[in-house]
Amino acid sequence: MSEKLDNGALKAVLRCVTEPSQDQLKGFRDFLQKKYKVADVLIEVRIEPAVHGGFILDVGSDEYDWSTRGRERQFENRIDAARQKAAAERSGKDIMSILRSAVDDFKVIAEKNEVGFVETAGDGIVTIKGLEHAQYGEIVLFENGVKGMVQNIGRDNIGAILFDEEGTIGEGSRVTGTGKRAGIVCSEEYIGRVVNALGAPIDGGPALESGEYRPIEEPAPGIVDRKSVSEPLQTGILSIDSMFPIGRGQRELIIGDRQTGKTSIAIDTILNQKGQNCICIYVAIGQKASTVATLVNTLRTHGAMDYSIVVCSTASDPAPLQYVAPYAATSLAEYFMHKGKDVLIVYDDLSKHAVAYRALSLLLGRSPGREAYPGDVFYLHSRLLERSSRLSDELGGGSITALPIIETQDGDVSAYIPTNVISITDGQIFLESDLFFEGQRPAVNVGLSVSRVGGAAQTKAMKKASGSLRIDLAQYRDMQVFTQFSSDLDEATTNQLRQGAALMELLKQPLEHPMSMADEVITLVAGEGKKFMNLPVKQVKDYQGRLLAYFAEHHPEIASEITKTGRLEDVQKDAILKVCDEFDAISSKAEAAPAEQ
Ligand code: ATP
Ligand code: MG
Repeated sequence: MSEKLDNGALKAVLRCVTEPSQDQLKGFRDFLQKKYKVADVLIEVRIEPAVHGGFILDVGSDEYDWSTRGRERQFENRIDAARQKAAAERSGKDIMSILRSAVDDFKVIAEKNEVGFVETAGDGIVTIKGLEHAQYGEIVLFENGVKGMVQNIGRDNIGAILFDEEGTIGEGSRVTGTGKRAGIVCSEEYIGRVVNALGAPIDGGPALESGEYRPIEEPAPGIVDRKSVSEPLQTGILSIDSMFPIGRGQRELIIGDRQTGKTSIAIDTILNQKGQNCICIYVAIGQKASTVATLVNTLRTHGAMDYSIVVCSTASDPAPLQYVAPYAATSLAEYFMHKGKDVLIVYDDLSKHAVAYRALSLLLGRSPGREAYPGDVFYLHSRLLERSSRLSDELGGGSITALPIIETQDGDVSAYIPTNVISITDGQIFLESDLFFEGQRPAVNVGLSVSRVGGAAQTKAMKKASGSLRIDLAQYRDMQVFTQFSSDLDEATTNQLRQGAALMELLKQPLEHPMSMADEVITLVAGEGKKFMNLPVKQVKDYQGRLLAYFAEHHPEIASEITKTGRLEDVQKDAILKVCDEFDAISSKAEAAPAEQ
């Protein structure tokens, strides 16, 4: 029964320990208006320390109890009821288990009904009081509809990050727990789409609704669930496939200063996955929106969006979104991996991810450590990258290959975040500014790059063809520096320098031109066979292009055989060298011909 005043307004009494804020009062008023279907509500506030915390709202004979005292009383009642039940039954069932289930039941009820209040809000971070059962990583819902995620569990309050603009959230705003961990709804429909860090489309296409809900943080597969990396993931970039092969399920870091072609390597690798049965996910973290737009455009023009997903949190997104983007994208990747598919995921870049996390942590009041990053910044990336793996056959044999990107300052790989990520990954491709500016693009530094998974991730053909390439190049670089100022060199040294220069030239590759495995093998065999050594360096690339075209036109069986078997027999090697000579004879004749006329 409710109590109405003469003028028709509803009268209610609010008992609490501290004066409620205007927002809270408004919340109660809205609640009453809806509940009793009245237009006018008069709330009388009574301060009563006995309430302990929270609020009790009395409307006539109805009581709405959101107070700590009320909860305590409810708890006592339940325990009493349970005790009586146990006494009445005397069934031999032990009283402890009956009491325990009463406590558990109450916990569920308490969690469901818990309402907390915002203590402080600002910079995408809020501290909340009163949500005592909130868990780490749980989604909390604010009264204006904004969602947040619990990140800090303190003694008296909890810290949460917001996934949206704060809007009207301020001191006193109401918050409820949802009991749900932050997650993303995964489905096949994501393929071809550009989505934000929470999986909502931002490409103007239809909404993605149905699917499987996966938490953004998942434990990595254990050792037993995994299989060793043995299948190659061709990047289509000659210098990488030949010397630093990447296998499906591997984590290979791309590291270098700004503007050294890091993103380009990742994008070319995605372009090369066409028809390779591999789903690609590109995660932009803290990038400029315009850069991402250009990139999506490149993928679209090459038809790569047919098997790709772009997860985008740009520099203008709040730090919490930049922080969750790679985790959400990895959950998406896991969805496909558990379906037995191969996935390639690019995190561009984890330096900005660490910076976003640093901002969050400082705002949450955690103590800063080296370079002002919080103490758990290693864990930030290790738990992310550990999720890339190759599952055993029993689990479907799917895989996630990760290409994290790290930006260095002035080539300093010994800074905090670079060393962390280097130690987490299975190798790195180090891009050097000097090489980049010399025109050696992609600017892969042969000496500092490594792939620790090794030859298991290479096809037999590629392994055989690349032979001693890495050592030859390393020697060439050394000798080049050494002989820089000497004028008079013996023939062996001159030849070695010329061969080295030709090989370096062969490794140059324009953007968006990934090579097929067979073409790479042919190029390497010809290169190691010194077929480019006697050409002027400037002509090497052009000659290579014409040579490969000649192979494709006149001897396509060589390439198709290599592609089919993945092997390179000695006979084939000889055949390649023979065709090279054949082509050489034809092209020198063609060159000589105009001179004769
Ligand atoms: P940022 O630090 O800004 O993210 P980045 O290291 O990702 O830069 P990219 O954006 O990939 O570098 O490339 C920088 C520039 O170098 C681009 O203009 C790109 O066109 C050019 N570039 C990269 N690789 C090559 C290449 N193989 N051949 C020619 N140009 C290249
Ligand atoms: Mg980049």
